[in-house]
Amino acid sequence: MTQPNLGNYFAELQANAPRIGRTRAAERIARLRALKQALDSHRAEAHAALRADLNRAEPDTDLNELLPVTSSIKYVIKHLRAWMLPEKHGLPITLIPGSAEVIYESKGVVLIVSPWNFPINLCLVPLVYAVAAGNTVALKPSELSPATSAFLAKLISTVFPPEEVRVFEGGVDVAKALIDHPWNHIFFTGSPKIGSQVMASAARYLTSVTLELGGKSPVIVHPKYGAEAAGARVAWAKGLNAGQVCIAPDYALVRKDQQDAFIAGFQKGVRQHYGESPAHNEDFGHIVHERHWDRLETWVEEARISGAQIWQIDAPDRSKKYYPLTLVWDAAEGIELSCSEIFGPILPIYTFIETSDAIAHVEGGTRPLVMYQLSHDRAWSDGITAATRAGATVINDFFVHYMAPSLPFGGVNTSGIGKSHGLWGFRELTNARSIYRRGRWSPTMLLAPPYTDWKRKLIAAVARWL
Ligand code: NAD
Repeated sequence: MTQPNLGNYFAELQANAPRIGRTRAAERIARLRALKQALDSHRAEAHAALRADLNRAEPDTDLNELLPVTSSIKYVIKHLRAWMLPEKHGLPITLIPGSAEVIYESKGVVLIVSPWNFPINLCLVPLVYAVAAGNTVALKPSELSPATSAFLAKLISTVFPPEEVRVFEGGVDVAKALIDHPWNHIFFTGSPKIGSQVMASAARYLTSVTLELGGKSPVIVHPKYGAEAAGARVAWAKGLNAGQVCIAPDYALVRKDQQDAFIAGFQKGVRQHYGESPAHNEDFGHIVHERHWDRLETWVEEARISGAQIWQIDAPDRSKKYYPLTLVWDAAEGIELSCSEIFGPILPIYTFIETSDAIAHVEGGTRPLVMYQLSHDRAWSDGITAATRAGATVINDFFVHYMAPSLPFGGVNTSGIGKSHGLWGFRELTNARSIYRRGRWSPTMLLAPPYTDWKRKLIAAVARWL
């Protein structure tokens, strides 16, 4: 696809944005219903695309790709009429007579750029909110999941005319060329590194951005939780999509005397879910690309050389893009596994003696997308939450907050800017416009020059009231 075409397509979406922005709730709901229907009837193609791109097991595709989209559609349909109503606001006495409200109008033309790890979910959930908010949309799925990108292009063309929603397949060059237009909003999901480049490009046109990024999400284990049970639960969480999940636990913090029990629990958990050789297990995902496989292998090798202990359930196999669930402990500070988002099935373990050491470990790094805690001690959990900053805290489970549609989803600083889902997601993609209405007579003119004595007294009184 050449860049002049991108310009034409942008102009087409932009020209159509005012008409779409005027659509009523019923029309937007009809579009969302059509999208849900199309997804339901193309489920088998979605399964095949995800199998081809990521060796994703079909139940995983149902649970983690299709369900988040269809449940978002249902939630939005239920609430959209209320969200679109003007919001009445009270006024101070000095602004009476008059009335005030906020209307949530469309932003206009929105670009959604998505990653490969949940390629249907992370394209279509933002799309649901962008459509609900009355925008026209360009969708750029990832070049690393090409079968799913082709599936999405076909699916979207059956639901939306191209001047309303258009999918742009292609590589980084297409993403860069798209970013270089005056969008009214960019909704980007991906790595912090590319997110910062997207924000810099958006600054050129002062385009607003939502950045759904990643980072190092810890799981902190309470000393009385049961270290072996904790290890087993983390093994499941780290195995989902072979650890290639933005909200996967990146590393574990365990009290020093419980490390051995945690390791034993993790090993047991891996065997329980995937058997002795997950390399041959159809339910265990692949690493998306050889480049990412090489990165993981290099990082584990660096840890080994620096003196870390390493356990792997079976051998890595580059020809199959298979990387095994791996535990790393006694790792040196400053190595990649300790500093960078892992985005693979490798779990480093760090130990603490006092809870304050665990807090210092988390606060010493960038702000996480999620903080996981395994704990039945409410005061302990609240203390850690109060002492840290993260996009979310999840206690005694993994991932599930993503499925609670009324909770804001997003990070803090390097893990993200802006929120999606529910009312938060709708408002993120609208412009909150203040409307103030005066009647026929306005007392404001009483405050206009010339400043006679009585006007000076009046202004002084108003200043005291306000
Ligand atoms: P990535 O940042 O490499 O790519 C994301 C998208 O950006 C792709 O569509 C790509 O084509 C596009 N892109 C690449 N270079 C670009 C550029 N210079 N300008 C504009 N667009 C560009 O991320 P990835 O490897 O696809 O995904 C993994 C990352 O995404 C991880 O960091 C993960 O934590 C994060 N992630 C975050 C969430 C979330 O909701 N917070 C969800 C999934 C993944």
